[in-house]
Amino acid sequence: MTSTTKDATEQEMFGHPKGLFYLFFAELWERFSFYGMRALLTLYMVQEIFKALVERDAATAVVYASYGSLVYASTVIGGRISDKILGMRSSIFLGGVLMAIGHFVLAIENNVAFFLALAFIVVGNGFFKPNISTFVGSLYPEGDTRKDSGFTIFYMGINIGGFVAPLLCGWLATQYGWHYGFGLAGIGMMTGLIFFWSGIKKNVFGDRGMPPSKEIYEKKIIGIPQKILVPTIAVLTVPLIAYILSAYKAIAGGESFLGDQTYVSLIFKLIGVAIVIYMAMIMLKSTPDERKKLFMAILITFFMTLFWGFHELSGSVITLFAARNVNLTFLNASQTNALNSMFIIILAIPISLLWAYLSKRNLNPRTPYKFGLGLVLAGLSFYILALSGGSADENGMVPMIYLLAMYFIISVGELFMSPVGLSKITDLSPKRIVAFMMGVWFLSSAYAFQIVGFISKQLAIESTDANIGGLDTLAVYIDGFSLIAKYSLGAGIIVLIFGPLMKKLMGNIH
Ligand code: GLN
Repeated sequence: MTSTTKDATEQEMFGHPKGLFYLFFAELWERFSFYGMRALLTLYMVQEIFKALVERDAATAVVYASYGSLVYASTVIGGRISDKILGMRSSIFLGGVLMAIGHFVLAIENNVAFFLALAFIVVGNGFFKPNISTFVGSLYPEGDTRKDSGFTIFYMGINIGGFVAPLLCGWLATQYGWHYGFGLAGIGMMTGLIFFWSGIKKNVFGDRGMPPSKEIYEKKIIGIPQKILVPTIAVLTVPLIAYILSAYKAIAGGESFLGDQTYVSLIFKLIGVAIVIYMAMIMLKSTPDERKKLFMAILITFFMTLFWGFHELSGSVITLFAARNVNLTFLNASQTNALNSMFIIILAIPISLLWAYLSKRNLNPRTPYKFGLGLVLAGLSFYILALSGGSADENGMVPMIYLLAMYFIISVGELFMSPVGLSKITDLSPKRIVAFMMGVWFLSSAYAFQIVGFISKQLAIESTDANIGGLDTLAVYIDGFSLIAKYSLGAGIIVLIFGPLMKKLMGNIH
């Protein structure tokens, strides 16, 4: 196959470059820290950080949304800095160290430490996440057919981390205290870095991931080499981001000139306008065929944003619903965050086999249909959650099976969309702007958190009662879930109806 173009230094394992397995474990542990912490975040804010506020749910919703938006948006900047200055290796180290610091600072139970910690994770993830994904791609020569399965293996690593972490961190947090849960997340990140470092020591990456140019890396600006300047600036932005994350009127305890908005929502509106103008300019300069494909790339990014907007409610409203209204057995509310990853691990291979099976018979649905179905599945999953209200007991608690069914269905939807979309973006974007379009694709997760914030705020319950739940909260959640179900189903059906038209726009791309 590609053996002639292979590096002399390259060693293989299970038919893949050995480096893949080091990146697999590094990312597994990084996601362990990310999702372990995410499983605790909402409950920690409601029960600890904002517990004295009547508007504690709303404040939690806003901070969760701002954090989620920035943690994904920072990947665009981290990816760019890596391409231009640092290279993937240094970026991954820098990002990993900043994330570990963030998780350890979270273990300090104090409000200022809390916002600083989130900011460390925002900046750290920006350097770590995009670069480890690109690193995987770089292990394979162009056109290597093993690349797709390499990414599937990598996605498994992500979800093994996402499965185990909420179970362990959620258990530690309830048994011993929040800081043990957050501390374990930090240890997870350190473990990820050790794996990455040992891969470098064993030379499994060859010369990949080095800075793009030694001169630029060493180049001095205001007397400081860029390799030092970039990490310094990264650390200096942390307090600023911490401030931005905390600037919400309910937290500040009064009116702010932003009203009900936050800096983050304002920034995202401005970036949104800039992207629309920039895309319009690119479209004007494109050939008609490019224009059609680009339009489709924008559409699928938009659909993905909607999907993540509903999906990412799992760490916020759905965790609160689990804590307040679900009769949980085996798992506590934080630990229910493991369910999505558990179903991804179970379903990823069967669904990719299903596509291969259908492809052989020329029945593999084209991308717009997969996206339409993905949104319909998200809608169904919320419909099931809404139905749970009918089975509530006299205390307003619903059976856990509804939550399991919901996670099962939305995970199928995720597999219909997320891995497919990633590869379609590269196919649909003209080569000259493919990196920019990848950035926009990552921003879809960032914008999704603005949707999460909006919805979570609508479903916020005003109270300072530590044991709120049952009949006091059930109706709010059930109404919310049925509304989300309608929007998602509606969006999915519209996508399916316009499927034939979108198929035409995609031309020869499946
Ligand atoms: N679960 C995937 C990951 O953690 C994708 C999450 C997302 O893009 N919102 O990498």
